Amino acid sequence: MTTPQTVRPYQSYVYAYPHKTAYRPLAEVPGGRPALSELWAGERKDALSLYLHIPFCEVRCGFCNLFTRIGAPGEPASRYLDALDRQAGAVRDALGDGEPVRFAAAAFGGGTPTFLEAGELERLCDIAEKRMGADLRSVPLSVETSPSTATADRLAVLAERGTTRISIGVQSFVEAEARAAVRPQRAADVERALGLIRDTSIPVLNIDLIYGIDGQTERSWRTSLDTALRWRPEELYLYPLYVRPLTPLDRLSAGAADPAWDEQRLRLYRAGRDHLLARGYEQVSMRMFRRADAPRTDGPDDHACQTDGMIGLGCGARSYTSRLHYSFDYAVRMGEVRGIIDAYTATADFSRAEVGRYTDGDEARRRHLLQSVLQADGMPLSGYRERFGTSPYEDFPAELARFEARGWLDAAAPAEGLLRLSSEGLAYSDALGPELFSPAVRAAMAAYELK
Ligand code: SF4
Repeated sequence: MTTPQTVRPYQSYVYAYPHKTAYRPLAEVPGGRPALSELWAGERKDALSLYLHIPFCEVRCGFCNLFTRIGAPGEPASRYLDALDRQAGAVRDALGDGEPVRFAAAAFGGGTPTFLEAGELERLCDIAEKRMGADLRSVPLSVETSPSTATADRLAVLAERGTTRISIGVQSFVEAEARAAVRPQRAADVERALGLIRDTSIPVLNIDLIYGIDGQTERSWRTSLDTALRWRPEELYLYPLYVRPLTPLDRLSAGAADPAWDEQRLRLYRAGRDHLLARGYEQVSMRMFRRADAPRTDGPDDHACQTDGMIGLGCGARSYTSRLHYSFDYAVRMGEVRGIIDAYTATADFSRAEVGRYTDGDEARRRHLLQSVLQADGMPLSGYRERFGTSPYEDFPAELARFEARGWLDAAAPAEGLLRLSSEGLAYSDALGPELFSPAVRAAMAAYELK
């Protein structure tokens, strides 16, 4: 069975549910801005994940709608770290010492965390360790970097402080394609950065690549993949290109709803997937591939992203309790992003949640399903039943029947106790995910005014 041609494969990348555009200022919600100490009281805190967000980059890539700005070295970063330190103090106080507080995983993301200089990265690690109490050397620590900021001194700090995974956004090894994606870079700089990363003791290297760039062919895509493979990365993420509102590419492009472009991306996705599968990689999700013989650095298997809490620090980071997902204001346009960062760095009192969305039982089921079923291994039906007392077939009969009719589900999986996507279902992850959004989240996202 194949997917009907009317289903567009590239609708949205569901990396977190609900999306930030469904969040609202909590001051306008009944109950107002809740105190963090109340929010976290009664939550399990022995396997939290910690995320520190650095909203600075040296360039603004054409496809990027992440919360980040082009930074100037020095003063803004140092003021931002001062605020991060104040926020960390307030959040750690709010977690209290009534029950054990322990972090099972940590990540520095952005933006580009290595936009910070070596001394500033030391300070970032100190905030995670000394303020929050995370033991960075004993848990998985993932850090994002870019070719021009992955310098030897910064990487040395990260390796020494316990980084287990470094993820570098290369996007394309073909210079003309990098330019077309508005991410100008010299191939020699990319190679230099990869060499420096491989000279460290950091065990996992991830390389991000993008397909669907204007002018990209199967042949040039293969060139990028093979150049990446020469570094034997433990992980590769293959991202379809999106042209999102208000990003630099949006201003350049004639329109995103182009069937020929969908067809190009699907073709390159399949070619990339098959190329990696034939070279010793296994598929973890639509985007993620892992070298089958790579060492696993996930650490103790005790953080479950469907259920455990997350503490996000920084003005682009989200935090999750079992009832509320919260963050600060969100924007894409440069001036707006700058304004939000300035407001964050001027904040003295971080004791309350500012912007967010309460999630009820129905949303928890949707989130569990979304976070599990988009993984190639599928979702154990027993885990879902244990948590909710039901089966996903009872809770989402219409959606799952539709997915089945389109050939998106693996018919053999239920016999193994799993709900698992077929290979076609995985290819259509970015169409399938949004179909699991609740009507309320959909309405909130539609009503959001992008800025
Ligand atoms: S893709 Fe990465 S490096 Fe480029 S602007 Fe976005 S966060 Fe910065």
